Amino acid sequence: MEKQKPVDHDFRQSFRNEFKRLFQKKLRLNRKKNKGFPQKQKTDMREKDFRIIGFDADDTLWVNEPYFQDTEKQFCELLAEFHPQGKTSEELFKTEMQNLDLYGYGAKGFMLSMIETALRISDNHVSQATISKIINLGKDLLQKPVVLLDDVQQVLECLHAKGIKLVVATKGDLLDQERKLRKSNIEQYFHHVEVMSDKKESDYLKLLSRLEIEPENFLMIGNSLKSDIIPVLNIGGFGIHVPYHTIWQHEKTEQPNHRDNFMEIAHISEVLKIF
Ligand SMILES: [Mg+2]
Repeated sequence: MEKQKPVDHDFRQSFRNEFKRLFQKKLRLNRKKNKGFPQKQKTDMREKDFRIIGFDADDTLWVNEPYFQDTEKQFCELLAEFHPQGKTSEELFKTEMQNLDLYGYGAKGFMLSMIETALRISDNHVSQATISKIINLGKDLLQKPVVLLDDVQQVLECLHAKGIKLVVATKGDLLDQERKLRKSNIEQYFHHVEVMSDKKESDYLKLLSRLEIEPENFLMIGNSLKSDIIPVLNIGGFGIHVPYHTIWQHEKTEQPNHRDNFMEIAHISEVLKIF
């Protein structure tokens, strides 16, 4: 019996080692399956003939959603006497969705939706002074500084230097997006800027037709799967998703099914590994 003890220890140890090895192997395979992209797909992206790369603007090139969230927080505080913050946010989102076809995307439509929400949830008892403060919140939103996300400048400069045609394809208010582009100091890298009323498949087809390229020669890069990636994949184009740490409720969606012409990267600088 005494002689068997070391044998048991050895056996247990080798069993543990083998188990650890298999577990780590499975972990590596799972990581590759769930988060990374098989090398074949990366190679495929590298081998494609992208004639134009489209960039979303808000939360892809520069900070946007945190400004809206901050404005919404202040709006909720102004109306604290009528509703708790969560309820006011919910009502505002409802108003925004109802108005989307009329106002489109952007800060001005958001401002009008805030006023409408304030009147509705206060049963028209909100004071003129509060309405005035809401208008100022909207005006402040239209004058926020343009802050480029990390490495954006370097990526655009590098792609531009390689002779790749770059375009901006963004939703939002025309005047506001033009202001942001002007202040961003990256306008010179873009061949074309398209401020779109929406980013559905038909909108992308119109854009590509104007740019005179086929979908298989177009790559779109953006933070919203719903607006920047899925419609482009659906028309036969390519997409690189660069998630931002926060996203507007309206833009949330599931991962796309197409895996062949889609990649997700953690940081925009990873685009340079492909080009
Ligand atoms: Mg965006």
